[in-house]
Amino acid sequence: MRIGCHLSIAKGLNTSVELAREVGANCFQFFTRNPRGGAARRIEAEEIAAWNIMRSEADLYPIVGHLPYTINLAAARDDTYEFACRTVAEDLSRMAAIGAEYLVVHPGSRVKLSVDEGVSRIVRALDTVLARHNHKTMLLLETMSGQGSEIGSFAEIGLILRDLGYPQSLGVCIDTCHLFAMGYDWRDALAVERMLDDADKHVGIERIKCVHVNDSKFSPGAHKDRHELVGEGLIERGGFVNILGHDRIRRLPMLLETPVDDYSGYAREIAKLRAWLWTE
Ligand SMILES: [Zn+2]
Repeated sequence: MRIGCHLSIAKGLNTSVELAREVGANCFQFFTRNPRGGAARRIEAEEIAAWNIMRSEADLYPIVGHLPYTINLAAARDDTYEFACRTVAEDLSRMAAIGAEYLVVHPGSRVKLSVDEGVSRIVRALDTVLARHNHKTMLLLETMSGQGSEIGSFAEIGLILRDLGYPQSLGVCIDTCHLFAMGYDWRDALAVERMLDDADKHVGIERIKCVHVNDSKFSPGAHKDRHELVGEGLIERGGFVNILGHDRIRRLPMLLETPVDDYSGYAREIAKLRAWLWTE
């Protein structure tokens, strides 16, 4: 099983390998730049060379970058939109340079635009970005909770993939809290089957490449994105076993983004998940 968490790379990629080891993670995710979308840290060639060795010794796979939440590929304002396009393109190259397998992005918020208009802006952005990309890192669109005007249901992500002709360098990242907020109540095993049917119908199950593991503070269908520590929110242990223990899901990398006090809190979260999901 591949279970890891969101870590900081502020002190360098090599320090993050130590952090991952300390909490028992065999994969991890990090923000590619400041959450407010500022300048990106330059990762030098020497750092990358040392990182490649440390990473393979520590058996870390996959490595996942996450774009800041402020990036909006559906933005109606041209400056916000162009900034988003430029940042996604830049971070795809930065992630390819360090050998990260995936880069996660929230599809975008359409604000006053219709779903069709929002989707077509995202399609136009990704079309340009992917045409210039070397395809070493796969871009993953994340399923969202449907809060406000967020784009990110399977049906909406399906429209984006379809209009782009299902490029191989584009996949999907699911989030247990966001989908719970969308109405898939994992405590009922049938909800897992319904989610997989919806995923297959709109995006294709094989395009799902990783899972964000979060408990939820709010009830199913509330469309509220508030993460909670695993087992302390409404999904409950049984819900996590239903979704993460499912044959179609358990082989996917699982990344915790729960509200721990500091990174060391992930040791307990990872141990808890491993204990729940362990089967002979
Ligand atoms: Zn996310």
